[in-house]
Amino acid sequence: MPNIILLGPPGAGKGTQAKRLVDERGMVQLSTGDMLREAKTSGTEMGRRVADVMDKGHLVTDDIVIGLIEERLVNEHAAGGYIFDGFPRTLTQADALGELMARIGQPLDAVVEIKVDDEVLKDRIVGRYTCGTCGAVYHDTNRPTKVAGTCDACGGHDMKRRADDTEEALRTRMLAYYRDTSPLIGYYYAKHQLSSVDGLAEMDAVGAAISSVLDKA
Ligand code: AMP
Repeated sequence: MPNIILLGPPGAGKGTQAKRLVDERGMVQLSTGDMLREAKTSGTEMGRRVADVMDKGHLVTDDIVIGLIEERLVNEHAAGGYIFDGFPRTLTQADALGELMARIGQPLDAVVEIKVDDEVLKDRIVGRYTCGTCGAVYHDTNRPTKVAGTCDACGGHDMKRRADDTEEALRTRMLAYYRDTSPLIGYYYAKHQLSSVDGLAEMDAVGAAISSVLDKA
């Protein structure tokens, strides 16, 4: 099964689409954002160090996220293929991922850029909440739960909002995306690994477009 990167600004739908690929294809989602939030919640030394940086919307240092990804890649084998979600976010991270994959003898089969209009991102992010039990993603107006406060997928009642899903932190996250992450589009294009899908389409249509990239990979 292919290993892929999902690339796109905050709110593009990387996490939503990654979860779908996990359910439909048994792929393994490696989200550095989720790993860092877990470290924050469980109160590890590293979690305490990154908490403020994350809440404000800045990137954490390359060595921390590269270390997290390395630990996962060398310790588990994903027969279903990996989905890198929110990693790499800098050119240094992209180079490190290339080296890591070579070291474990795995190809990187495709990089899928989810293209969106900046104007819609703010609305998507400010209003977003997730089920703390199963990770399903909802939105106050675009995709509310059928019963308020109850997860459609698992019936859980532990709805969570991210500390960095505020207008101010979002401005910082967008700036980080355009300054540090968007150069990866050119980087992977030059390596003939880039495909782009329209992230403004319906969620199912975005999923179908990503699936068709995967099937060709
Ligand atoms: P995400 O859930 O992908 O939006 O990530 C949430 C936050 O975690 C980001 O705003 C950063 O502070 C941090 N983060 C996640 N992944 C990375 C990464 N690859 N490099 C640097 N910081 C990251």
